[in-house]
Amino acid sequence: MARAPAMSEAMTRPVLLWFKRDLRVADHPALAHAAALGPVLPVYVVEPEYWALEDVSGRQFAFLRECVADLRDQLDALGLTLCLRVGSAVDVLEALRARTGAQHLVSHEETGNAWTFARDRAVAHWARGQGVVWTELPQSGVVRRLPGRDGWAARRNAFLRASVAEVSGLRAAPAQPGDAWPDLLADDCADRQPGGRTAALTLLESFLTTRGQDYRRAMSSPLTGEVACSRLSPHLALGTVSGREAARATAARQREVKGTRVGWGGAFKSFQARLAWRDHFMQKLEDAPALEQRCLHSAYQDLRGDDPARRAAWETGETGVPFVDACMRYLEATGWLNFRMRSMVMSFASYHLWLDWRQTGLHLARRFTDYEPGIHWSQVQMQSGSTGMNTVRIYNPVKQGLDQDPQGIFTRRWLPELAAVPDILLQEPWRWEGAARLAYRAPIVDLAEAARAARQAIWAVRKGGAFRAEAARVIEKHASRKDPQGHFVNDRAPRAKGRADPRQLGFEF
Ligand SMILES: Cc1cc2nc3c(=O)[nH]c(=O)nc-3n(C[C@H](O)[C@H](O)[C@H](O)COP(=O)(O)OP(=O)(O)OC[C@H]3O[C@@H](n4cnc5c(N)ncnc54)[C@H](O)[C@@H]3O)c2cc1C
Repeated sequence: MARAPAMSEAMTRPVLLWFKRDLRVADHPALAHAAALGPVLPVYVVEPEYWALEDVSGRQFAFLRECVADLRDQLDALGLTLCLRVGSAVDVLEALRARTGAQHLVSHEETGNAWTFARDRAVAHWARGQGVVWTELPQSGVVRRLPGRDGWAARRNAFLRASVAEVSGLRAAPAQPGDAWPDLLADDCADRQPGGRTAALTLLESFLTTRGQDYRRAMSSPLTGEVACSRLSPHLALGTVSGREAARATAARQREVKGTRVGWGGAFKSFQARLAWRDHFMQKLEDAPALEQRCLHSAYQDLRGDDPARRAAWETGETGVPFVDACMRYLEATGWLNFRMRSMVMSFASYHLWLDWRQTGLHLARRFTDYEPGIHWSQVQMQSGSTGMNTVRIYNPVKQGLDQDPQGIFTRRWLPELAAVPDILLQEPWRWEGAARLAYRAPIVDLAEAARAARQAIWAVRKGGAFRAEAARVIEKHASRKDPQGHFVNDRAPRAKGRADPRQLGFEF
């Protein structure tokens, strides 16, 4: 009899629901779990220390603000009041615990940068010290403490298939005083995408019903990709829509168009593959947090250096190589770039300009509204050839410009100083007879010569048994298990066949 009051007291203590990169209330396992434990107090912590890091930016901060405002409305509709606090997560959570007597903290797992990893360890330490039970739940296919890549795809697929946690018996904890949104960083992105779940659902709907039909063909050009790609990346990064919601909505549309001749099949298949890549790349960072700092294959660690003048020219779109410059200026203005062009500008910095990927990767991280550490650093390393397991791919920016922007519409839009150059020489204006009259610099490097030197330097590192032994270990730990058609596979058989062959196991584009 004596225990009953204690139990009911526990049930009335607020459960702290810590929103992180999951700014929605639908498909939200943490909300469902918190609701089952007791009255819910939703909390968002703006962490000034995070916003002072070198891989984040004002455009991301402004996007976040819109997402949090939208989240507040979603919570209001459920009768919950968001408690927005500014400070370190440990300090804020401790203040709320002391004030409310909360004994439970619920959140989703986060695969972020080194700073958020350390912050989560500090929160775990605090929770243990205060007797607070912190439950972290997955919200994607990323698996914590994964023993090895075999079977990973099956686990991810099971996560996608699992029924979405229903919220039942939701009760609101008393609202707690909050802080005003802090003025930490300014938005410097003129054409940034708007944040918030409403914007995310509009994008998903228009992609699946109209914009995406030509996805496969149109995604590679920055001109057509702007419309034909889903543009969901910043939303997936902050969780205004979940990857599972996107995958399920796509699957529903796949069922709808099955057997019809409307030509959506390929688009949906490619899109689903990319949603899987998202989890695959984030899993890499989960398994090897150091890849944010160090080359996946140690042989590449100190191969390149920094050259501030070259780097500045690349960052500001003033290398004298038109398609690279147009893409960098477009990125500056919009906060987004399609996949192929991200690869090209990264490859250009790492091969032609021979710059270490760490500094150039930081610049891109800041410029992307959708910065997602797991995808970002894995891709930065892949496009720089420092993983030891991917094919060396040096993009030719002249060819890319001719292929992806044959009429020069995109290039001239972002480089109006090249307006007079004929299409055929637009990507190599230095060959045009009127080049001397252009207010545009000569290329910063000789393209053919720089690519040749880079290829030689990279392949020279690859020689030798020690390189291959380490490369095999990288493949074993990180490579996707794919069949010859490029599908993720779940069992051991294809891996056994392709085991030591990077072409079978790595990602190639
Ligand atoms: C150097 C480099 C850095 C990158 N950094 C980021 C980053 O910080 N954040 C980010 O979200 N993506 C990053 N990407 C991957 C990719 O370019 C973007 O996800 C994509 O361009 C976003 O546009 P979208 O949402 O319209 O993509 P869609 O083509 O519509 O794809 C849908 C979703 O699938 C995922 N996705 C697509 N392509 C990839 C890929 N190659 N690898 C992993 N996931 C993928 C993304 O979540 C994307 O939103 C990077 C790529 C490169 C080459």
